[in-house]
Amino acid sequence: MRQKNKTMKLQYLTPGPSELYFTVADHLQVAIRQQIPAISHRSKTFEQIFAHTVEQLRILMNIPANFHIVFTASATEIWERSIQNLVISESFHFVNGSFSKKYHETALDYAKKATAIEVPEGEGFEITKIEIPDSNELICLTLNETSTGVMMPLEQIYALRERYPDLLIAVDAVSIAPYPELDFSKIDTLFFSVQKCFGLPAGLGVWILNERCVAKAEKLQKQGVAIGSYHTIPSLVKMAQKNQTPETPNVLGIYLLGKVAEDLNRRTAKTLRQETNYKAALLYQTLAQNPVFEVFVQNPKFRSPTVIVANIKKESNAEFLQICEKEGLVIGEGYGNFKKNHIRIANFPTFSKETIEKLAGLIENYR
Ligand SMILES: *Cc1c(COP(=O)(O)O)cnc(C)c1O
Repeated sequence: MRQKNKTMKLQYLTPGPSELYFTVADHLQVAIRQQIPAISHRSKTFEQIFAHTVEQLRILMNIPANFHIVFTASATEIWERSIQNLVISESFHFVNGSFSKKYHETALDYAKKATAIEVPEGEGFEITKIEIPDSNELICLTLNETSTGVMMPLEQIYALRERYPDLLIAVDAVSIAPYPELDFSKIDTLFFSVQKCFGLPAGLGVWILNERCVAKAEKLQKQGVAIGSYHTIPSLVKMAQKNQTPETPNVLGIYLLGKVAEDLNRRTAKTLRQETNYKAALLYQTLAQNPVFEVFVQNPKFRSPTVIVANIKKESNAEFLQICEKEGLVIGEGYGNFKKNHIRIANFPTFSKETIEKLAGLIENYR
């Protein structure tokens, strides 16, 4: 059970939702003062907010001009929309944990012939050994499996593109964007939600997609396939071209995302990446040096820089979680079956070096 410590503010180093980025409180105050949540989503002011957010995201993630950026309610919604809009009958899924599994299940829910290549939790894939039949239309990848801390190396995604240039590639980057320096020409769509690496309140999904996705969705539409109602790729893209959305969107969320992306751009994506790498190296090294812990992902090639998972060689993680919380740091329990035996630490680009160094100190001294 959590012990309430009334004097200390807790910092949430949990893999979503997580600690708000330190600038969010100020941006919220300004937003309230300017009545952002009350403005019409058909107003010029909203169009400017939309355009600003898209512009800042393009800079931060180096998103090419030929990719559209649209907004949804969540990443879970994009699992569903991507299946609805991009798959007539067959999709192929890389499954190595709970989130990639849910993406696969979404396709099954839509009665698609959804094939999964599955490896045990904590492991990555041996791409060269995997054959994807041509009948597939969409390859679904989870870049960072949040339940286990496995990251798929970008080279693997690029290799899939080489081998299967005709298939669409969808990348769930929820718990890692904007960290990766991704070559967008090697994928067709990528999505994330903002309560993880952007340190923002939940309730906004960001969907980045190219013309191949638009063409595919239009093809389905022409064939009379139901691809959704208000949130279809064609409807989202058509409205986004006017800096608008089909429905009344999360205006405040879109505003805050633009502001935080601008703040992150001021630090530059390169610096964020370097700092994230430093913090990740510190955590992995400290965990490896303490015999109480065991880094869950054995192969360093697959270790995520943003979600760090370790097995704890005790009856449970309760004592360590409590020690952290007494020091004002909330870290994640394990996911699913690993609830009591794992710790999951978010190492998001929004967290300071000092915070992660403090946590590393606690890991180092725990016996
Ligand atoms: C959290 C998460 C999701 C779901 O995001 P929501 O914002 O809850 O819809 C999807 N995929 C991954 C990898 C996640 O970590």
